[in-house]
Amino acid sequence: MRFDCKPGAVFLVDHTCVPVEDFDGEELLALGRKPSSRKVRVSFRKNRQVRVRRQNLTHDTLDNTEAAADLAHGERLSGKGALTRQRTIIADADANADDPRRAVDEQSCVTGRVLRAVGANHCLVQLDDGGSLDCVVRRVVRTMARDARNAVVAGDKVLVLPQANGTGVIERVEPRRTTISRGSGRHEHVIVANVDQALIVVSADEPPLKPALIDRFLVSAGKGNVHAIVCISKVDLVESIPLQSIAGIYARIGYDVVLTSAVTGQGVARLRELLSGRETVLTGQSGVGKSSLINGVLPELELRTSHVSSDGGKGRHTTRVAELLPLAGGGWIVDTPGIRQMQLWDVANGEVEGYFLEFRPFVPGCRFPDCLHTHEQDCAVKQAVADGLISELRYMGYLRIVLGE
Ligand code: GDP
Ligand code: ZN
Repeated sequence: MRFDCKPGAVFLVDHTCVPVEDFDGEELLALGRKPSSRKVRVSFRKNRQVRVRRQNLTHDTLDNTEAAADLAHGERLSGKGALTRQRTIIADADANADDPRRAVDEQSCVTGRVLRAVGANHCLVQLDDGGSLDCVVRRVVRTMARDARNAVVAGDKVLVLPQANGTGVIERVEPRRTTISRGSGRHEHVIVANVDQALIVVSADEPPLKPALIDRFLVSAGKGNVHAIVCISKVDLVESIPLQSIAGIYARIGYDVVLTSAVTGQGVARLRELLSGRETVLTGQSGVGKSSLINGVLPELELRTSHVSSDGGKGRHTTRVAELLPLAGGGWIVDTPGIRQMQLWDVANGEVEGYFLEFRPFVPGCRFPDCLHTHEQDCAVKQAVADGLISELRYMGYLRIVLGE
């Protein structure tokens, strides 16, 4: 990230400076560098930006971008990272600087959904009016994405400019309604976008059931705004009574819980019902039985898959990238090795309690407003655990996330 935006460089909404010569004529036009455009000042705010110089501002004010921008007139900031609250960009006068969407010629474009992204540049797009198109991603779209590697992901809704040679160019990526992300170095790696729900698959045994892992997956789904379903697989391997009590913990919080076995067929009908007509991403460790569920439970998927998959018949389970697989009865399923770890991305410790839905009623009762419910005194959450109102298992799952275990 560069903040030394020199004359002749274009400052993009993701706070990067790009020399003008990096854009081709068409891209510059799209950026609005045309006679009718004018320079506009945009305020920006980096998450958790550290102020280099102490100021008489309250935290509340700092959180308010506009107020901070006003105050910036009367103060000097020093050091990199907080050079200014405003930047000059060249843009359409009416372009909304906070809107990551580019102005493009919509008339000549078609809309579609990314089935599969291949590397940073290519993807397969299912067009809304039928058919699919191999597409390249226009460079400016990549430049404008926060993480260049990730400008276009499976599930993205895109605007495509069809080319004479039968391919397409991705002109714009629409804002994502939901995401499933993981941390990748210092960047967010969005694995899939705009899915409705995540099927969190954990096995009753082999590998042994780890409720803390369910909790981690639940936080991740919550963060990405994705509805979560808990699926405990391989239930044929264990006694059902202890399993029922764990399933009950999640069911009482309000999650859909389904117990399945690819061997006995238990839970299969319910699972099919839960997935049908929806867009679902499967998450869970390797070996928990996701493939068996897909193959055995949804055999029609195999039939449909061959039309979409172009990896030389090796089958989708060797696929290293996220891919949307259409279900015969409507809806999609996404399975990807990238989701199996579900390393949490950008979840601050103080934010975790918000994703433990059953903690919420107790949080206001804690003595300290920034209580992390770990070592603090007069903690209403810990009291609720002691009173049996919050499951100990869930509290342990919470602690593991907050303490980084
Ligand atoms: P994935 O890595 O999550 O896709 O897991 P797989 O579907 O490849 O399954 C891993 C192993 O667990 C395989 O040896 C399967 O035969 C076995 N398995 C999968 N589902 C079940 C089940 O419901 N019951 C039992 N007993 N074994 C299962
Ligand atoms: Zn507390």
